[in-house]
Amino acid sequence: MTAEEVKKISPNVFDTGKVCPNCGEHIFAYRFTAGSFSHVYERPCSCKSAEVRREDAQRATEKKAEARKARFDYAGVPRNFVQAKLNNYRRLPGTEDAYAAVKDYLLNRQENIKAGSGLILYGPTGSGKTHLGCAVLNCVLEDGYRAAYWCVPQMLEMLMPGGDEGEQQMILDKALLSRVLLLDDLGAEKSSEWTRKELTIILDSRWRENRPTIITTNLLPDEELRRDCGDRSYSRLMSDHYQVVSVTADDYRRARA
Ligand SMILES: [Zn+2]
Repeated sequence: MTAEEVKKISPNVFDTGKVCPNCGEHIFAYRFTAGSFSHVYERPCSCKSAEVRREDAQRATEKKAEARKARFDYAGVPRNFVQAKLNNYRRLPGTEDAYAAVKDYLLNRQENIKAGSGLILYGPTGSGKTHLGCAVLNCVLEDGYRAAYWCVPQMLEMLMPGGDEGEQQMILDKALLSRVLLLDDLGAEKSSEWTRKELTIILDSRWRENRPTIITTNLLPDEELRRDCGDRSYSRLMSDHYQVVSVTADDYRRARA
């Protein structure tokens, strides 16, 4: 910028006579005057401006990385599944429907999450259901959603009367308030009147609040599942909020090893 061009912007801008040793630009300054008060502000040269922009961008990147880490820490995805994605899922015979359903769910995840739509992945132990469930969770966590993982038997055990109240509150907060919740291994708990009541509180509340729940279970989505989680939960699970998909590759774990 020439001195004339600068003058056109404001008569209070002047060339300080200094030159940046880095970029060779003249350093211009603004003079602010208010009554007897006068202050001179040096306009940063190109290299100084670029440096400030770089620092801002770096701070923003760091902040984003911190928030991402906090999100993943909160979610509590088991160590073995933190890398679980759809593209590293072993698509063995019997997993086609589940793979397609999860792929479709993730392609439309914004709409699905908004609508409170969940998935029920059922099939025998070791068919890769947890991998698929965690793939959904990891994907929405990358998007920035608050999501959480709970293994159902472990969660219910920690919620048993007499447990640590602070811990129980944390468990319920995650289960009730996370935008997306993965309830892994539903049906592996020792079912009782009490477990059915706890599951009903969680599933009913999430259904009411339109919060999607992804469920993996080795129970068949019929009387078996109804007996395990009770009539009310079962009717929520069979509502149009859930898509029920079977996963039948019983040798998934062996194939992965
Ligand atoms: Zn410079």
